[in-house]
Order: sequence, then structure tokens, then C-alpha cells
Amino acid sequence: MLTTELSNTARPQIILENIFDATTAEAALVKKGVAYINQIASSSCFKDAIFVKRFTETGGKTNQDIWDTLVSRPYAVNVKIYTGTWIANHFYHTIGKTDASEKSATIKVNRQFVRTAYDFGNNLMHEVFGHIAGFRHDRIKATSVPYQLNDIYADCALKLGIPLPSR
Ligand SMILES: [Zn+2]
Repeated sequence: MLTTELSNTARPQIILENIFDATTAEAALVKKGVAYINQIASSSCFKDAIFVKRFTETGGKTNQDIWDTLVSRPYAVNVKIYTGTWIANHFYHTIGKTDASEKSATIKVNRQFVRTAYDFGNNLMHEVFGHIAGFRHDRIKATSVPYQLNDIYADCALKLGIPLPSR
């Protein structure tokens, strides 16, 4: 009984372990972005979306399987901020690279794209609950788990009153 109750109330969660090479201001944005993700991921808006959306590139996983993957463990991560090359900033628009080989995954984020907690949170949502959780995007992309997580983040942030960045 208890096990059932726990699994029904489990919510996806990111645990931020270390922040490397960030300025004080960047570190504050990173922490706030992670708080946004955990707020969104614990909402019924998020859970409903995971069960309602049609995902591609899931490797055969059903919506239930995707949910089970997201709540299977807390996702512990380190965040490393780096300065992208001119080419990365202006041509490839590289936002983040993920090194999942370590025990706690290290998400490398180009500081060019860490200007607001909201945007950082959206990026980390894609990298962690998308790629670290084992989902990819191949040909279809927009309907993949990582990219739809970005849409879900934006939809749920709006519903939860998380402030959009001013541009
Ligand atoms: Zn991606």
C-alpha cells in the first residue's frame, strides 16, 4: 500500500550538486532555474502533459514508461559554465553539452545563453529530463521528448505564474 502511494505521489526532481566556473550572479540564476524546474516538474500541469502529449523518438517507451523514467530517481547534476567560441555563439548556437559519463552528470552551459533563470531552467529541463534520462532527438525533433519538455516547461511556467524573462 505504502509503495503504491509513494509511486503515485513521486515527482521528477533535479538535485543540484555543484556549480563550476560561474560568477556569483550566474550561480544565482542557475539555482533559481533549478528551483523553477522542480516547481514545474512537481505540478499536475507537468504530469498531465507527460501523459497527454504524443512523443516521437522514444525508443518504444509509452507515456507511462516516460513518466516512470522521470520519477525513477532524483537526477543529481553538476553545472559547469563556459564561454563559447565565437562560432558556437554566432553560428551553431550551442547552448549546452552533457557529459553523462560521470556519476553525477555534468551539464556544460555556454554563458552566452545563461542570462535568465527562466531560460537556464528551460535549457536544463531539455538536458536533464531529456538527454540524461535517456531520450534523444533524431529526425523529427520537435516532437521528441527533449524538445517537448521545453514546450511543457513554457506552458506550465505560464500557468504557475513563473515570470517570463524580460527581453
Ligand atoms: Zn538536445
